[in-house]
This record gives sequence, C-alpha cells and structure tokens, in this order.
Amino acid sequence: MQLLKMELRGFKSFADKTTLTFDKGITAIVGPNGSGKSNISDAIRWVMGEQNVRQLRGQKSEDIIFSGTEKRRPQGAAEVSLYFDNSDHQLDVEFTEVVVTRRIFRSGESEFFINKRPCRLKDIHLLFADTGIGQDSMAVIGQNRVDRILNSKPEERRIIFEEVAGISRYKSRKQDGLRKIEETEHNLERIHDMMSVLE
Ligand code: ATP
Repeated sequence: MQLLKMELRGFKSFADKTTLTFDKGITAIVGPNGSGKSNISDAIRWVMGEQNVRQLRGQKSEDIIFSGTEKRRPQGAAEVSLYFDNSDHQLDVEFTEVVVTRRIFRSGESEFFINKRPCRLKDIHLLFADTGIGQDSMAVIGQNRVDRILNSKPEERRIIFEEVAGISRYKSRKQDGLRKIEETEHNLERIHDMMSVLE
C-alpha cells in the first residue's frame, strides 16, 4: 500500500495548506535544521492515532497547532490528511483511494474522518490494524525510537511482533467480545435475581 499524498494545514510549523506528493520509490525530505522535516513524520503518526502528545515532541495537545510568528497569527485548528492507494484492497473498504483525516481545535476537540466521513479513532485503528502502518507500527521510526525499541521491555516488544504478525486486529476484537460476554453475564445475573424475587 502506498502513501500517495499528504495535506497539512495549521499543523505545527505548517500554517498554510501544504501538499506533499509521494511518487513510487524513495522520497527524501531535506532541509535546514528546524525547517519542519520531523514535523512531517509527527503529522503521519498523529493521523494514525498517536494520542500521546509527548511522542510528538509537545507538552499539551495545543502544541501541535500552529502557534504563530511575529508576522502571523496562530491558527485555530490543525488538520492533516493522508491519501493511500487502496487499489489492491488491502484496506478492507470498497474505495480504491482511502483518505484518513484528523482535525483538532484549540478547545481540545478532536475529529477523525475516513474518506471525509466522520468516524471514531477506533475505526482508524481497525482499518489499519495488521497493515504494518498502524499507530504502533514500525513504519514510522521517529528520532530516538530505535534506542527505545532496543531498550523496551519484552511485553512492549511483543506488541510490535503482534502487529507485524498480523494478530493485533483479532486481539482487539477478542477484547470487545470478552467485554460483551461480561456485560451479558451481568445482565443474566440481574434477570435471575429479578426472577427469584417474582417467584
Ligand atoms: P532537525 O533537522 O534539527 O531535526 P527538523 O527539520 O526536523 O529539524 P522540526 O523539528 O520538524 O525540524 O521542526 C521544528 C520547527 O517547528 C521549529 O522551528 C519549531 O518552532 C516549529 N514548530 C513546532 N511546533 C510548532 C507550532 N505549534 N507552531 C509553530 N511552529 C512550530
């Protein structure tokens, strides 16, 4: 699956709408220190569901919204869209191109979209689970991440192997299933209690 294009607006140093297109093969992004190269990989991880703003080199969620310069006012929101080629239907949706969008406002309100339709963060996790480009995948390796992976605990490293092996989607569904069983058992207990009172 190929990342075809990304659009950023109001994300960190990208105040204006900025479009990056990725051709087949390797794309290198070069620029002086502090010009925003790492902000691009931060943006990719953010859209894919990174919830911990520290992992995006910020302190609070507002830090990912363009904070203004001497000449420019701060932006009220940040929005990033990733366009994926899905002609091989690796993503389990009918579309041949999938656009995933995340938007955040200064109020902290966050929105997610798949092909412009509002969705939950969980829908994005499920869509990309086991594709190798999900939230915890190795597709984006940020600065210091190599050290972190090498120094990670066995349980943390196991999550990486599970994503690569393609079982994290099933683990998530199993957890949902177990939760529903627990709720149903709880309801059954209540019904039994009520029946015994009625008898
Ligand atoms: P290096 O080569 O040194 O790693 P880089 O090209 O990867 O640098 P980044 O770390 O991506 O650069 O970008 C840092 C720049 O982004 C800084 O100039 C910083 O002021 C700017 N920046 C970060 N967050 C915001 C924000 N919320 N609003 C405006 N600018 C921001």
